Amino acid sequence: MDFSLTWQQQTVVDQLEKFLKKEVAPYVEEYDKKKILRDPSKLKEFFRQLQPFGAISGPIPEEYGGMGLDYTSTGLVFQKIAEYWASLAGTCLIQVAGARLLAESQNKGIIEKYLPEVCAGNLILCSGITEPNVGSNPAYITTTMKKEGTGYRVNGQKTWISNGSVSDLALVVATGDRSLGPKGLGIILVDRRESPYGTRELEKLGLKAFPTSEMSFEEVFVPEENLIVTPGGGMRNLGRTFELARSLMSVTSVGLARAALAMAVCYAQEREQWGKKIGSHQLIQEMIYNMKSRTEASYLLVMRAFWLMDSGIKCEAESSLAKAYSTEAAVRTTRECMQIMGGYGYSEEYPAERLYRDASMQTIPDGTTQIQQMIVARDLLGLAAFA
Ligand SMILES: Cc1cc2nc3c(=O)[nH]c(=O)nc-3n(C[C@H](O)[C@H](O)[C@H](O)COP(=O)(O)OP(=O)(O)OC[C@H]3O[C@@H](n4cnc5c(N)ncnc54)[C@H](O)[C@@H]3O)c2cc1C
Repeated sequence: MDFSLTWQQQTVVDQLEKFLKKEVAPYVEEYDKKKILRDPSKLKEFFRQLQPFGAISGPIPEEYGGMGLDYTSTGLVFQKIAEYWASLAGTCLIQVAGARLLAESQNKGIIEKYLPEVCAGNLILCSGITEPNVGSNPAYITTTMKKEGTGYRVNGQKTWISNGSVSDLALVVATGDRSLGPKGLGIILVDRRESPYGTRELEKLGLKAFPTSEMSFEEVFVPEENLIVTPGGGMRNLGRTFELARSLMSVTSVGLARAALAMAVCYAQEREQWGKKIGSHQLIQEMIYNMKSRTEASYLLVMRAFWLMDSGIKCEAESSLAKAYSTEAAVRTTRECMQIMGGYGYSEEYPAERLYRDASMQTIPDGTTQIQQMIVARDLLGLAAFA
């Protein structure tokens, strides 16, 4: 088993770190407070700057404007961005996961029309599954897509949609017939410029700069060329998207945890109490040990998931295991960083509290920790706790 990075991976990560140190690190607190990623032109600027590293189109084939990178390399890029600014990693995650769904659709027209622009960062993509009354169980989505002439009429509300407010394009999961439940679902690409939809920004505990919105579709007409999955085709196309999204959430959490660990180590080496460095107190060392062991275990779990994806092997359970473990681990690790830093950890003057607030979100989207736990247990037991 080879744990080393290839020359190419190491070079990309080093170049990316150089960029992040210069363009992000000195301004991150200001950018986060000003929520600058909620400005679509700023976000597109970041997308274009990060594109050469594979952050928005890493695993998309080169023929569609992507980088043709393997998933492991893409994951390493996300880990590094998250070490500096998790909000930025989050916006890229939504773009790359949506781009992959587009790339895997059978709709060549859509691929040619939109994918190169998405991969270049010129069009911002979001994905709408969640609704006010439909969260962990998306089977009974109420947003409708009804056939009408040469297209579909879309009606309904989505909520908690990342990049929603700044989006040019929305991949919307909707039903052709509510009475069919999960069997009525399909996916359609809504181009906001041709088929306008409304959005409202949502405020939240962490990831302040990361746009998260309600979306409303009122009698929105979408041409049938934009169909990704015909109503009745269900959510099966989303399986591989979830594997990628959960693994990217997981590796983003590793980045957050690494940042917290580095900060805590630095602080514990400098700060003195009782006449000695706090890092030489045994209870501080226990926390440092716990932070390190969780972070390394998280890294290994998610790298295995990426390796399975690169090998073309289905990894639903492995990506769920990585997501559940690493996101919960990051919450505890960032919390312990604050604890080690005492009052300064809790202060807005230092980044520790931001890392904690940002990590707290990772346990919710793309399936909460509880949903991931049940996916893993279902894989082991052959018994489902949910449909
Ligand atoms: C910052 C952020 C960004 C998001 N981005 C997107 C996005 O881009 N697109 C999108 O479609 N959605 C997005 N979401 C929505 C996210 O996917 C949902 O919030 C998540 O799936 C949970 O749904 P819910 O909030 O409705 O909670 P619920 O489903 O109501 O769950 C509430 C609680 O009940 C638990 N629970 C539910 N069912 C079970 C069960 N069977 N057994 C045990 N426990 C259970 C859950 O684990 C949770 O603890 C985002 C959410 C957040 C916070």
